Order: sequence, then C-alpha cells, then structure tokens
Amino acid sequence: MPPMKKILIVDDNLQNLYMLEIMLKTNGFEVDQALNGAGALEMAHQSPPDMIVSDILMPVMDGFSLCRNWMADKDLKDIPFIFYTATYTDYKDEVFALSLGADRFLVKPMAPDDFLAVIQDVFKTHPTHIQTTAEKPAEKESQYYKEYSEVLIHKLEDKMAQLEQTNKRLTALYQASCNLVSIKSLPALIHAVLYSMVETAGYQQANYFHLNENENKLCLLDTVGISVQKTDERMFFELDEEQGLVGLVAKNRQIINIADIALEPRLMGMEETIHSALYVPVQYENRILGVLSLFSMDMDAFQKEDEHHVSSFANSLAVSIKNIQAEEALSRQNLLLTALMNSPVDDAIFSVDQNYRYTTFNEKHRLEMQKTWHVDIQEGMNLLELLTGSDSHHLMKQSIDRVLTGEAFMDIQYQPDTGIYYEFNWNPIWQDQTHVMGVTAFIRNVTERMQAQEKILQFNAELEKRVFERTAQLEAVNQELETFSYSVSHDLRAPLRAILGFSGMITRDYRDSLDAQGQHYFDNIVAASTRMDRLIDDLLQYSRLGRRGIRHEPVNLDSLFASLTSDLSERLSADRAVLTIASDLPTLLSDRTLLTQIFTNLLDNAITYHPKDRPVQVSVTWQREESSYVICVSDNGIGIPAEYHEKIFNAFQRLHNQEEYPGSGIGLATVKKSVLLLGGDVRVESQVGKGSTFSVYLPGEKA
Ligand code: ADP
Repeated sequence: MPPMKKILIVDDNLQNLYMLEIMLKTNGFEVDQALNGAGALEMAHQSPPDMIVSDILMPVMDGFSLCRNWMADKDLKDIPFIFYTATYTDYKDEVFALSLGADRFLVKPMAPDDFLAVIQDVFKTHPTHIQTTAEKPAEKESQYYKEYSEVLIHKLEDKMAQLEQTNKRLTALYQASCNLVSIKSLPALIHAVLYSMVETAGYQQANYFHLNENENKLCLLDTVGISVQKTDERMFFELDEEQGLVGLVAKNRQIINIADIALEPRLMGMEETIHSALYVPVQYENRILGVLSLFSMDMDAFQKEDEHHVSSFANSLAVSIKNIQAEEALSRQNLLLTALMNSPVDDAIFSVDQNYRYTTFNEKHRLEMQKTWHVDIQEGMNLLELLTGSDSHHLMKQSIDRVLTGEAFMDIQYQPDTGIYYEFNWNPIWQDQTHVMGVTAFIRNVTERMQAQEKILQFNAELEKRVFERTAQLEAVNQELETFSYSVSHDLRAPLRAILGFSGMITRDYRDSLDAQGQHYFDNIVAASTRMDRLIDDLLQYSRLGRRGIRHEPVNLDSLFASLTSDLSERLSADRAVLTIASDLPTLLSDRTLLTQIFTNLLDNAITYHPKDRPVQVSVTWQREESSYVICVSDNGIGIPAEYHEKIFNAFQRLHNQEEYPGSGIGLATVKKSVLLLGGDVRVESQVGKGSTFSVYLPGEKA
C-alpha cells in the first residue's frame, strides 16, 4: 500500500479548516493545518507535506506571500501548491496567483468531488521542477511587486466598494431602527422602514405584507420603489397555503434569498430591472406578523451578512409592531373606559392605587366630591387625605385596605351629615395573579331604597305586633270558650246523671204500672238522656284534647292497632265486618292518647257506615311520603258525597239521623283536632256507594 499523502491546509477561518480537514481525511489523506502563511512555512519545514492548499486573505502572511516564499524555498518549491479562495475571485487574481508558480487557483466553495478530482489531477500532473520566482532575475522581482500591489489595490477597491455598500445598508437599517421607537402608527412606521430600505440602502423595491389575523391572510400593507398595484391579486396570500413566496416564508418562518430571479419560477412577471430578492419573516414569539421583501437590481445582492442584519432588524420591527398594536388596543380600551365611566349611569366610579391616590374617576364622582367635600379632585390626589377628620375617613380606609387584600365585596355607608346612604361595590385591580395594584369602587346613592326598606321593616314590626296581640286575644277567647264548653258539659253531667239514675229506678219499679203510651214516652226519655250522656262524654273528651300537653314518645302502631282491634272485636263479629291491618306498621315518636283517639274514631266510623245488607271490609295500610307517615283507614261502606268531604270534620256535622246510624257528630272533629295537635293533617277520599279512605298524615322520623 502506498504511504498516505499529507496535505497542509492553510486558512484563518477555523470552520473552513475543519470542513476541509474532514473532507480530506475521509478520502484517505493525512492533514496538517496552519492559520496563516508564516505558520504554514514553519510547519512545512518541520514536516514537509505532499501538497499545500492555501487561502489568500489571511493575517500575518497572506497566500500570495506564502506562495512566493514557498517557491523560493529549495526544500518546498517542488511540493504542489493550490490556492483555494473566496475573496480573490477576479481573473487578474488568478493570473497573478498562477504566475507565482501555483498549480491551481480554485474558488470557494467547491463540491467535494470536484475538489478531490483537482487534487488527484495535480498529484498526477505536477512537474517535479518548475521555475520559481527565487530564480528570477531582479527585474522579474520588481515585476512581481508591481503585480502584487496591483492585485492588492484592486482588492482594496473592491473591499471599499463592498464596505460602502454595507455601510449604506447598515445606515438604512439604523435609520429604520430609529423609526421603530419614534413612530406610533403602523402604516407610518412601515412606510418609513420601506423608504429607508429603498432610499438609503439602495434597494430597488421594498414591500411589507401584514398578517390579517381575522382572515388568516397576508396583505400588502405598503410598498416603496417600483409601483405595485395594491389591489393586485398577487398581493394577498393565505397564511397556511404555500401560495407564492410570501406565503411560504410566513408558513416556514425562514428567510428566502433568491440570487437570480430568472431562475425562480414563483417570481415570474417581476420588473425586468430586478435581479435578486430577499424575503424575511417578521415574527414575534414564534407567531408570524408579516413578511418583509426586498428587491435589488444586482444579481446575488443579499449576502449572508445582509440576511443576518435584515432578520435581526425584522425582529426589532416585530417588537415595535407589537408595541404599536398593544398601544392601540390600550388607547381603544381607554376610550371605551372613559366613555363607559361617563355614560349617563347612576353610579359614581373611581379607582385608587395602593396609596389611596386617584387613578381614575368619572364625572359623577367628581361632582359628588365637589358637592359633599368641596374639593376639585384630580388624578394623583390622596382620597383619604381629602376625608381627614371625618367619619368617612375611617370607613373608607377600612374598605380600601380590605379590597387591597384581594377581596371583592359590597358595603353600605351612611353619612350622618347629609343623611345619604351610599352602596359601594368594591373590586380589586389585579396587577398579576398575586398582586393587587389598586381598587375600583362603584358608588350608588341608595337613600330611597334604604328608606323604603326601613319603612317595610317598621311596617313588618308593627304587623307582627298586631298579629301577636290578635293571636293573644284569640287564644284568650278560645281558652274561655273551651273552659266554658268544658264546664257546661261538666255541669250538665250531674243533672243528666240524676235523670238517668231516676229513670233507671222508674224502669225498674214503675214501668209496668204505665200504659203502653206512657211506656213509649218514658222509653224515649231514657233513650234521649242516654244519647245526651254520650254527647256530653264526647264533648268533654273533645275539649280535653291537648290540655295535658302533647307527648313525644315511641308509639308502636302495631301494638296500638292490636289493642284497638281487641276492643272492637264484639262489634266486628256482630256486624260480620272484616278488619285487615298491615303487619309492618311503623313505630313513631308521637302521643299515644291522641293517636288512640284518631284511629278509634276512624275505625268506629268505618265499621258503622256500611249498608245494612252488606258486611263491611276495613283495611289499615301505611306509606312514607316525604317527611310524613301516612296511615290510611279504608272501607267499602256507603261513602260520602263530595260536597261534604270538608264539612264532616266540623263538630256536630252529621249526614244521617239517629235511626239510620247513631252518633254524636263529634268523632271526626276529634280526629281533626288531634291530628292538628300532632302537627299533621287528615284528608278523605270517598265515592258514594263504594267506600271511603281517611288518610292521616303524621310528621316525623321513625322512632
Ligand atoms: P258520628 O259518626 O258520630 O256521626 P263523626 O264526626 O264521626 O260523627 O262523623 C260525621 C259524619 O260523617 C257521620 O255522621 C257520617 O255521615 C260521615 N262519616 C264518617 N265516617 C264515615 C265513613 N267511614 N263512611 C261514610 N260516612 C262517614
């Protein structure tokens, strides 16, 4: 295997060196590196390479001097020398370089394959000995310096021209940057920027396409230079479609640099004078705001530096656009706020900062402060200082301090001096999620409302008092009535008992001595007195209800109905009645005596009121309804006409005479009173000829 060939590469740009090194090493060469001509000579003396590839423009010693020294050195002159340059690209430069003895003059950048082919070719064709400048006579020497300085001057001129161009462009960007801060309207700003690009930087045309967020379209906002119709169809681009170069730049958010417009089909129909173009996205926090496009009459007018400068300018432009938009939004909001605050509302509105200083207030508040406190308030004035010494000072401070902790609330303040009630709606103004920077208050004069409320309260109190008095009166009358009916019943009892006692004696001892007519009259007296006795008993029981107070004890309805059934057993069998009682009746917290009264009367009626020719069937069932227990006593008896469903609960209300169905007419009144005393109710559902159901609603939880 032949030994590896070593190539010395010389360049002051580390990146260029690195790229070359990688390319050569991966293709089987050994590589040495130097950063300038002097370094290259030193390295070559220490370890001569098989070839040298050198840049031209370098500090300390440039490529031309290196080549000249190389060729003058007897140890090095036979080693092939290649120039590889990006700056000296003129034909004159090449002629001069080759005249120094170099094998080749290559212009950067070159495709790796082409570059390697040249190297191989040089290795093959390089003459072992060529004539070098060292061997040239003196006049040749002066010729060299002449040519060398010509090339240098030429280069210097080029550089100057380039610098001037760059300077112009930087000046344009600087001017445009100054506008970024000072101009406060978007169209004016864009126009100034585009103007600088054309007038100062010397571009042929500059456009700005602005994103209309509502329509998701980029529209030509302004153009300076060669005139372009704004209504032209080409001047609108959809954001997400890659329509035209503007759409593409906006979508990918990357610069597009077109060195030769003739080779770009998407730019057909451009002005003939234009040869190259640069499209730069204007974006803020990764969102596209617009696209800036610049056109030049020169081919390849936009260098890497231009791209860099214009794109950093585009970033600043984006910030300015955002600022202008934010300021516009803010001023719109301000206008709206002022309009709102001064619209004919009833509320006085103000806001203060953390130091109680006014930040805003509306006309209404200004007038009220003038009227009440005789001050002309202004932004920045300390509200608390204005109220110093008054009761309001303390109240106001307390409320504002509370809102400053982040609480929103409403309070009503009364001004004793004016007799006015104010309703304050307080709200914190948040700076961010944790800091309150101020306070707003909506103040409304609510004196009328408060006075009306006060009247209602007074009226209510009076009403309550009257109801209380009336109830007391009614209770007293009731009490009196009850006492009266109790004592009447009680007092009637004694003479009645006497009548019954003597009637008994007459029946026993003298009945037989009366003729049939007399016996009949006498029997009537006994029957009427017995009925009256029962009536008085029932009445007494009715008026005694609840006198001893209501108890709340566990009452097991199963056992209560069992004892009622046993009391009724004789009557049931006499009437051939069938009584069915639900087996799982609940235990309630209630009053056993009252419950006994209720169900005795209901069962009694259910057994009583049936057609004589048909035995009755009675059933007791129950259910839960919301917070009540409902106990139902149903029969298949004679039923009750609908118009009496309410009335039958009144005392002495009977629908039959004694012959048909005996009774006192107090049973259901007793049921009603007992149920009401227990806080419940009783209702009847009935159809004549079919039967009745009495439902007793008892409140309360299970015991
Ligand atoms: P009494 O039964 O002593 O007449 P009540 O107050 O218990 O007095 O009843 C009032 C009236 O209601 C009764 O006279 C009767 O006409 C009617 N009534 C009560 N319960 C029933 C029932 N279960 N079926 C038909 N009618 C009834």
